Amino acid sequence: MPDTAPKGMAMINAFDPRKATDLAPREQAMIERRQRLLGPAYRLFYEKPVHLVRGEGAWLFDAEGNRYLDCYNNVASLGHAHPRVVEAIARQAAQLNTHTRYLHETVLDYAEALLATFPASLGHVMFTCTGSEANDLALRIARAHTGGEGIVVTSLAYHGVTSTLAELSPSLGEGVPLGRHVATVPPPDAYRGGPDMPARFAADIAAAFADLARHGIRPCALLVDTMFTSDGVFPDPAGFLAQAAEAARAAGALFIADEVQPGFGRTGQMWGFQRHGLEPDIVTMGKPMGNGHPVAGLAIRPELLERFGGRARYFNTFGGNPVSAAAGRAVLEVLRDEKLPANAAAVGAHLLAGLSELAERHALIGDVRGAGLSIGAEMVRDRKTREPATAETARIVNALRERRILISASGPGANILKIRPPLCLTREQADIFVGALGEVLAEKGC
Ligand code: PMP
Repeated sequence: MPDTAPKGMAMINAFDPRKATDLAPREQAMIERRQRLLGPAYRLFYEKPVHLVRGEGAWLFDAEGNRYLDCYNNVASLGHAHPRVVEAIARQAAQLNTHTRYLHETVLDYAEALLATFPASLGHVMFTCTGSEANDLALRIARAHTGGEGIVVTSLAYHGVTSTLAELSPSLGEGVPLGRHVATVPPPDAYRGGPDMPARFAADIAAAFADLARHGIRPCALLVDTMFTSDGVFPDPAGFLAQAAEAARAAGALFIADEVQPGFGRTGQMWGFQRHGLEPDIVTMGKPMGNGHPVAGLAIRPELLERFGGRARYFNTFGGNPVSAAAGRAVLEVLRDEKLPANAAAVGAHLLAGLSELAERHALIGDVRGAGLSIGAEMVRDRKTREPATAETARIVNALRERRILISASGPGANILKIRPPLCLTREQADIFVGALGEVLAEKGC
């Protein structure tokens, strides 16, 4: 099987208390308290963790009132604490919040507005609270429909936190075993793969399902983040994913588009899969769906839901409650009224151009790629061998944090800057980021 899966990692850029220096007494005390209360499984970002208390647009503010440019967080995608979403949540919370076993107009209005953003083939929507729950439900439905168990994911995918999803999220690292019914394929890396990449990616998927079948595991689903965010951000060439989805369907599997990261306008289009001119069988979504309020869900072709719906009842105490629906509806309205997908496309192109210019001056930047405001900048020690500049990238991320710019990295070598600012980012803010990155690279002689 064509699996050259990297080892994966626990978390890129995690705070290490053994290496901590220069922490203010208040933050030092909070770190100790956090470790005592929350235990050893949690991680903090950065060598010097950030203590944030407020956000506005693309800015975040720490306890001392210092301002940070957020180039990383894709949850408050409209901008932090967006007043229209805050107001919608507050208004509905002051009226009523119940579960989905009662009739409520707002829930139906939201379902209608959300479905209108999808191709007509996706006719039902179901609500959950998190992206993990959405993927979990999608897989239950896919199993019921196909009668199979076999799942194919990319070799550094992340799809969620439940037992089912952890065992198909290789990015969690070797400490979290993959399920026997899970096969991985190398990501669609056009930087390394060249023009054959789309055909090879599709062939790898076909081979992975064939291999599972030889082990007696029937196909269930190909599950991919349509921007391959944790694998290192792979958007190009637009359209390549259609071939991959075709390969999965030819094997008898469903194609599930995980839009938890790319969805809701980030790529410059409403959904990441639109870039590839295809219609998924199931779309899962979350993160920016409530601009910080926990709401998630899936959209699905109605015929796929028949068997599951006939056998099982679905109830989720909090998923799709009226407050979540009010938040979700406000998000769709703001995306439309503030033309944020178009802003993501325009400012994203500007940011990508700025990064490309930097790459002319700094050999460390091997590749820049992206769609809208989902951008990867890959740092390499040698442009020919493309050896990952892992340690250098960690230094860059921490040096940017010192300049109060928040960013992180992903990919098998932890050498790909993952740039995902709020969609309201302005050109001036994009320039601040590019300027600071240029300064850091110059300072470090890269
Ligand atoms: N899918 C993808 C692609 C994700 O990035 C994430 C979260 N990082 C999830 C699913 C899980 O979402 P949640 O954390 O809301 O459960």
